Amino acid sequence: MSEEAVFTVQNLIKTYPGQTKAIDGVSFSLHPGECVGLIGESGSGKSTLARCILMMEKLNSGQMWFQGRELLQPRFGSSYRVFEGQVQAVFQNPASSLNPRLRIIDSVMEPLDNLKNRTPVIVQDCRKNRLKCAERLLDMVELPSDLLNQYPHELSGGQKQRVAIARAISSEPSLIIMDEPTSSLDMITQAQIIEMLMKLQKNIGFACLFISHDLATIQRMSDQIMVIQQGRVIDHFAKEALFSSERHAYTQSLVHKYAKRRS
Ligand code: ADP
Ligand code: MG
Repeated sequence: MSEEAVFTVQNLIKTYPGQTKAIDGVSFSLHPGECVGLIGESGSGKSTLARCILMMEKLNSGQMWFQGRELLQPRFGSSYRVFEGQVQAVFQNPASSLNPRLRIIDSVMEPLDNLKNRTPVIVQDCRKNRLKCAERLLDMVELPSDLLNQYPHELSGGQKQRVAIARAISSEPSLIIMDEPTSSLDMITQAQIIEMLMKLQKNIGFACLFISHDLATIQRMSDQIMVIQQGRVIDHFAKEALFSSERHAYTQSLVHKYAKRRS
C-alpha cells in the first residue's frame, strides 16, 4: 500500500512476572481506513496486545508510531493525549467504557467535550448545541434520542455497546482498537452491530484493529487478517487469501473448524 501508515508497531514484547511472553515480537501497520482483524484462541494475547497498544499497560520493549510520530512511554498516563481523541477503544464489556453514574448523554459526549483544538466533521454543524450533537451521535449508532437521559443500567447489552461505539466515534478518531466488541451479545445483535460498524468505518474513515476469536466476524469486518498464537503473529494475509492452501497449519485448523460449523 502506498499511503503512509496511520499506526505502526514493531517488535512489541510484553512479559508478565513469572510467565513466558504474553506478547512476543508483534509487528504490523494499519493504513488509513483499513481494518485489520486479529484472531486467536483464548489466552493467545489479544487483549494484552490491545492494552499495550492503548498504553494501558507498559511494554517490556518495542516501538510504536502514530501518524508518523513515535509514541514514547510516559511515566504516567498515555502519550496519545497530545493527539486529542484520535485514538479510541471499544471493549467486550460495555460496562468498562461507560461510567454507571453518568447519563448516556454525558458518556457519549465526554471525548467531544474534551476536544480543544479540533472540531470533528461529523458534528461540525451542531458543535455549539450539545444536545443536538448527542442526538446526532446516537442516530449514527441507530439508537433513539430518548435514551440520552437514561443511565447505563437501564439499557440492554446491545444498546450499551452502541453507546460505547457512539462515544468512541464522537471525537472522530483515525484509529479505533476494538477488543471483542460483539462477543458478549446474542448472534442477531452481533450481526447488526457488525453491519453498523462497517458503515461507520466507511463514512468516518477510521482505521481499526478488530479483535475477535470468531472467524466469521473477522472475515466480515476485516481487510487483512492476523492470526495470533502464544503471543506471536504466525500468519498475516489479505482476507481474500483466507482459504488459500499456503496458510499456516494453525490458520488452516481455524478455517477447518469454521467451515465445519457453517455446514
Ligand atoms: P486473550 O485476550 O487472547 O484471551 P490475554 O491477552 O487476556 O488473551 O492473555 C494472554 C496471556 O497473558 C494469558 O496467559 C493470560 O493468563 C496472561 N495475562 C493476561 N493479563 C494478565 C495479567 N494482568 N497478569 C498476569 N498475566 C496476565
Ligand atoms: Mg481477550
